[in-house]
Amino acid sequence: MPIHLLSEETASQIAAGEVIERPASVVKELLENSIDAGSSRIKISIHGAGQQSIDVADNGTGIPTSELLLAVARHATSKLSSAEDLFNIRTLGFRGEALASIGSVSRMSITTRAHSSSTGARLRIEGGKTGILEAVGAPEGTEVLVETLFFNVPARLKFLKREITERQQIDTLVSRYALAYPAIQFRLEQEGKVVLQTSGNGNRREVLAAVNGVELANQMLEVIFEEENVRISGFISPTSLTRSNRREISFFINGRWVQDISLNTALLQAYHTLLMVGRYPIAALFIELPPEMVDVNVHPAKAEVRFRQPDVVFSGVQRAVRRALLAYSPVPQVAPPPMWTSGSEEPHLALDWEMAADGREASPGMDEDFPPSRAPETGQPQNLPLPSGGLPLLRLVGQVGATYLVAEGPDGLYLIDQHAAHERVLFERYMGQLNRTLTSQALLEPVVVQLNPQSSRLLEDQLPILAHLGFQVEAFGGNSFVVRSIPALLTGFNPADALRVLVEDFEEDETPLLKQMEARLVARICKRAAVKAGKVLSADEQKALLQDLEACQSPRTCPHGRPVMIHLSVDLLERQFGRRGAR
Ligand code: ADP
Ligand code: MG
Repeated sequence: MPIHLLSEETASQIAAGEVIERPASVVKELLENSIDAGSSRIKISIHGAGQQSIDVADNGTGIPTSELLLAVARHATSKLSSAEDLFNIRTLGFRGEALASIGSVSRMSITTRAHSSSTGARLRIEGGKTGILEAVGAPEGTEVLVETLFFNVPARLKFLKREITERQQIDTLVSRYALAYPAIQFRLEQEGKVVLQTSGNGNRREVLAAVNGVELANQMLEVIFEEENVRISGFISPTSLTRSNRREISFFINGRWVQDISLNTALLQAYHTLLMVGRYPIAALFIELPPEMVDVNVHPAKAEVRFRQPDVVFSGVQRAVRRALLAYSPVPQVAPPPMWTSGSEEPHLALDWEMAADGREASPGMDEDFPPSRAPETGQPQNLPLPSGGLPLLRLVGQVGATYLVAEGPDGLYLIDQHAAHERVLFERYMGQLNRTLTSQALLEPVVVQLNPQSSRLLEDQLPILAHLGFQVEAFGGNSFVVRSIPALLTGFNPADALRVLVEDFEEDETPLLKQMEARLVARICKRAAVKAGKVLSADEQKALLQDLEACQSPRTCPHGRPVMIHLSVDLLERQFGRRGAR
């Protein structure tokens, strides 16, 4: 074929393909236009999962009749005038492509009335062919109706997913924008049913409740962070609330939803060791930066950005999240179902409760003149490395059921799971050692461990990591290995068991990072090595464990994310004993 210029129509379809990939992309572009137009109300109505019709109506500035024809031309925008402006973008749009692109792959009509104008106008475009401008009566604002999307691009149609998937994409997208713009009232209808409605009163937690339900919204922790020129706000889930994938993690830069792997990594690192393996938090984080610090012109769909100083943003996210977790992540509070009236069985608590009563003669907790309970720490700016997780000084009361320690703090009673606590202590001690020199303990007699062929090959590949962890292990021919020394921390622990734990972990993970791998191995070893539930501890052992726990950075959860302690606050105790209001 000789070189020839593509027809206008083909060229514009190709260009449209970059921006408009699926129905949700249309919704995204139209929403962004409505937001840029300063709307306070946006209504989205979808039929046939967006393929039949997408209707977005707003009460924004509208488009003056004289500019309407231009608005649908490619590279026509009111948001940018020169390339220098690219680094000072304060709007979501700037490429002047969306309306032209949508118009070239659908039947579109725009009805609009500018605030200053007494009459409205309507313009239709079909497959890129612009119709004539009509004068119509219309409310202030803009309504764009997009019908039979991709009617002239059958190849695209074939790539659309099942209706349910396309519909979900739209739901997710609109929810994200609703969260990002709590001061805008959003209403989303799919096939005539309202699926999302927000009030536009500016309260982001209310939007969160509209999107995810009240219960989840109430549990989410608030993030507030400001340092240098980075501001981060939003919500993250506490360590007790997780998902099996990353889909409910979203980031916004200056009001723009973006996909960015490094931000995800920063978030996950902040949760490091606080979540169980394979679990992910829920998060919606809004990052604000001076526009010149972000390049938004990286991707036609504007879903990716580049940062001028990625480290600043990255560490900002990490610290913001870490702080929120430390400041707000409370020791689980027992909700107060009044046990003494209903007699209803509170399975685990009722038991602990009775037993705790024995060892508590000296507890001053019930006195009216007891100092008011300590206010929870709020998000005071703190610098990494992190301070301790804020355990108050605890006084040991005793051990219960050979499984829990009972301790008293200024703000009530703590029940501490001795196994989880010991796991946490060992974990932090061991991880601390890994960063310095590791101490290894030679075995008096080397131990030979026999593995199956697969495990054996895995282990062989990982011998350098083992050495780093303090294991001296050599291949011994066949599928057996000699263990000559083990980490000092594991003294007394069965070397063969320790080795098997490691192998299991290699088997579970495809391509772990060294640091994560270490943390996980250590967590698993510590789990095995930690004192078991059911073991009676001497008074000295109890005291030592409590002190060690107080010294931990994250004393509230075990390395697998389970709670180490339950807190019965003075307030709760008062309510339980019917003393509330006596003060
Ligand atoms: P961009 O948003 O990148 O400028 P678009 O093709 O999406 O490009 O829109 C072109 C122009 O049309 C915008 O710059 C804006 O002036 C106008 N416009 C589009 N949608 C709306 C709307 N809902 N309200 C007011 N003006 C709009
Ligand atoms: Mg736009």
